[in-house]
Amino acid sequence: MAATDSVERIVLVGAGECGARVARVLREQGFAGEITMIGDEPHAPYERPPLSKAALIDDEISPVEVLPATRLAELGVELIAGTAVESLDRDRRLAVLSDRDEVTYDRLLLATGARARTLPIAGGELALTLRTIDDARALRSRLGPGRSVVVIGAGLIGLEVAASASQLGCDVAVLEAAPRALGRALPAEMADVLVKRHADEGVEVLCGVVPTDITRLGGRFAVGVGGFDQPITADVVIAGVGATPNVELARASGLSCENGIAVDDRLRTDDPAIFAAGDCCSFPHPLYEGRRIRLESWRNAHDQAVVAAANMLGGNEQHSAVPWFWSDQYDIGLQHAGLADETASSVVRDSGDGSQIRFALAPDGRLVAASGVGPGISTAKDIRVAEMLIAAGNRPDAETLADPSVSLKRLLKS
Ligand SMILES: Cc1cc2nc3c(=O)[nH]c(=O)nc-3n(C[C@H](O)[C@H](O)[C@H](O)COP(=O)(O)OP(=O)(O)OC[C@H]3O[C@@H](n4cnc5c(N)ncnc54)[C@H](O)[C@@H]3O)c2cc1C
Repeated sequence: MAATDSVERIVLVGAGECGARVARVLREQGFAGEITMIGDEPHAPYERPPLSKAALIDDEISPVEVLPATRLAELGVELIAGTAVESLDRDRRLAVLSDRDEVTYDRLLLATGARARTLPIAGGELALTLRTIDDARALRSRLGPGRSVVVIGAGLIGLEVAASASQLGCDVAVLEAAPRALGRALPAEMADVLVKRHADEGVEVLCGVVPTDITRLGGRFAVGVGGFDQPITADVVIAGVGATPNVELARASGLSCENGIAVDDRLRTDDPAIFAAGDCCSFPHPLYEGRRIRLESWRNAHDQAVVAAANMLGGNEQHSAVPWFWSDQYDIGLQHAGLADETASSVVRDSGDGSQIRFALAPDGRLVAASGVGPGISTAKDIRVAEMLIAAGNRPDAETLADPSVSLKRLLKS
């Protein structure tokens, strides 16, 4: 159901990637009313991806600001930073802030993101986590040549932190409870390429290893591990065990939540005046039989921002973008487009220069996902083409996919 009243005041809850992008897009789409962006971090919006990669290797971590003060002023966007929205009065269309101030809205966007999960073991709070620039600064101050680091979790952020710490001269071990690294994110063969690269850099990635507790040992830490006689000791322990969507405000306001704030394919919550986008929301994806998914990716935050902005202004756009993310570890770039499940079969394109792409085909022959790893952005163009093929529901010829001498673009015409 769409609200049909006029829209003069828009409130954005969350001053992260998605909230900032929505503010820009609203102005690009000609919205001339009030935009108030409320963020609980004491900063203007900044990019998170560098925090586990390039920025963590710098001596001083400077924010890559998405909307610096000058740009906010040019756009006429009011940023209320360091202040949380504590509750919503949906009948009166009021957001109540942590300083007890109240802000009224005609449309409100929940772009509350996600927070790092903490380890549910004794002493789990002793492990650092990484979500914000303040977390990154706290972590950076403990890294340096000769320091021993235990990373718990071989997901994307855990492995990126491991690569950065290793590049800073730390002695790094990664502990993963699952049988393999990157189990949620990538096919096993692609994960193996990254794990091998870590091993070449002297970073041990131990899988099937379950941490049981963390204790202080003077200024250091001891990580107990199931099946090990001795704990592993380290100067720094960091947990990269996933993120939890920030749904508390939505839930307390009576909005449906299901692995995130539940929105429809137009990013509407069950209140026609309230939308949600970015890491905090789950949505039905039209390319995958309407399966409800939640994505934690930079591109998704951007793509959904465009749809949410248009629909808050009365549009009726569907969010149907192909899921996509990237990761950088050492000089290896990873790009992944689409979603695959265990029914998919795979085809490999090996370029012979250290780059390879693994395509996933659904039982009906449709291309549903593609992952590429290689030096830098060597697979970027092909993954871009794969993304277009996925969006078009293309059923590509497997031989063409596998043959690196044939341009993938040829498939776009078939
Ligand atoms: C270290 C790191 C590395 C990453 N690297 C990559 C990468 O390589 N590739 C990739 O695709 N993605 C990456 N991501 C993911 C990407 O950064 C996120 O998907 C993106 O930031 C999501 O944007 P968002 O606006 O939805 O959420 P966020 O950026 O998390 O912003 C949400 C903001 O809302 C605030 N907030 C929450 N509740 C309230 C409230 N009640 N009131 C006010 N404010 C509130 C939060 O504190 C936060 O500031 C990375 C993330 C991290 C943490």
